Amino acid sequence: MLWMEGFMPDAVIIGAGYAGMSAAALLSHAGRKVVVLEESEMVGGRARSFRDEEGYLREYGAHSHRLAHKGIANEVFKRLGEEIDFLPESKDGKLIFRGKLWERPEGPIGFLKTPLLSIRARLVLLALFAKIKKTDPADWYHKTLLDFYKTSFRNREVEAFLPFLGMTIMCPDPGKVSAGEVIDFLKRVLAAGVGVGEPRGGSAGIFQTLSRHIDGGGEIHLHEKAEKIIIENRRVTGVKTGRAIYPAPVVLFAARLPLIADLLDQALLPAAVANYAKNIEHSSGLVIDFITNRPVTGIRSGILGVDVPVWARFQSAGDSSFTPAGKYLSSWGIMLPWHFDGDASVVAGAEQKMKSVISTVFPNFLPAVVDERKMVATVMNGNVLTPAQSKPNRPDIECPGIKGLYFIGDTVRGDGCSGDISFSSAMKAADKILSDRKPCRRIRKAYR
Ligand SMILES: Cc1cc2nc3c(=O)[nH]c(=O)nc-3n(C[C@H](O)[C@H](O)[C@H](O)COP(=O)(O)OP(=O)(O)OC[C@H]3O[C@@H](n4cnc5c(N)ncnc54)[C@H](O)[C@@H]3O)c2cc1C
Repeated sequence: MLWMEGFMPDAVIIGAGYAGMSAAALLSHAGRKVVVLEESEMVGGRARSFRDEEGYLREYGAHSHRLAHKGIANEVFKRLGEEIDFLPESKDGKLIFRGKLWERPEGPIGFLKTPLLSIRARLVLLALFAKIKKTDPADWYHKTLLDFYKTSFRNREVEAFLPFLGMTIMCPDPGKVSAGEVIDFLKRVLAAGVGVGEPRGGSAGIFQTLSRHIDGGGEIHLHEKAEKIIIENRRVTGVKTGRAIYPAPVVLFAARLPLIADLLDQALLPAAVANYAKNIEHSSGLVIDFITNRPVTGIRSGILGVDVPVWARFQSAGDSSFTPAGKYLSSWGIMLPWHFDGDASVVAGAEQKMKSVISTVFPNFLPAVVDERKMVATVMNGNVLTPAQSKPNRPDIECPGIKGLYFIGDTVRGDGCSGDISFSSAMKAADKILSDRKPCRRIRKAYR
């Protein structure tokens, strides 16, 4: 076993997704030495993206960033002295509701004017937005959106429309999603005045920038799986892989919490964290990328399903860098049922449902498809935003009882939803680590 003598990291980061790469870049930017360990062959985790030999930009599900330049991902970039290069906002978003494609209403005025609901339902929806605006999310994390709605409202049309609000944070079931999480998100959107931003060139550009910042003061080791987090006297002292031991006073575990069970003596992990990790509920999805030889539509913004949980984007309408010349790409996703267990017949049913929605709203699309690529994401969002998994209930970023161990990623107490939790938890951990004195080198001696 090699003991890494030449390069002594201040922190070892396990996992090179949004969270691990953001934390590593922030620490490196501040002058700390970091080692990122990634078991797979590329950085990016669930947001990985690469250009294939035919010239297509392959994304593991197209990734958007909520609130664009005012959002959490861009905050990481700003701290690095950068900005994410977002495509211009096109304001032509669509909703699929009751078998039809509708303009996605923008802001309260948009909802007042939208023909997708009766005038009475629009007024109820506006009253619901007004109530959301006045409500403190902290009072509602422990209740569902349906509970919140039912305290003041009764309208069948609006109730049928509630999945849209849940879908904005990827939990379309109003009886399941935490009201506090929806309220928190909608308040942030109303204040920011922007919806989502699409990074030019997909997620590849995000990871290139983060890698560049890490290269300044650290190393990224691909194909190197962390096997054990070494702990002595309730203090982290390093990480062991199949190739080496990396002594370090700080370890950031930047993968989904359930995976920590393999790396630690369970008796050391606080019971609350261990239980949370064991019972955590994630979401799953089926994504299909469709290639055509001609453009199908000029819609640049995203499309969201209200009554069927689909989402889509015609990437090449807004960014021609996704495909080789003369080819057009769109990416469609559908959520798989909660607790999806890999059953192929469930995937086939979801595919059929997705294609039936596509045929209804874009009848000329599927006959024009020349190729399609299917991907089942068994874990899409690591943490479904139910009341039990809402922000106050997620485990803290600093591991109680084990000095120097941090948890980051989309399963812990960051802000926002989906990938934003990863970016936000990375910033919180970096702030905490950087506010401590530069770690002493005592740990290194312990290995001599
Ligand atoms: C299809 C799809 C679409 C999505 N769309 C969006 C979107 O539009 N917007 C959004 O905000 N979010 C979206 N998400 C969610 C988003 O991808 C995730 O929340 C985010 O990527 C999680 O990042 P992370 O760094 O927390 O974890 P991960 O990306 O899971 O990274 C963890 C990394 O750790 C590595 N690892 C695990 N164990 C070890 C070990 N022992 N040693 C070394 N390495 C290890 C893994 O290989 C992985 O690379 C989507 C997800 C999917 C699947």
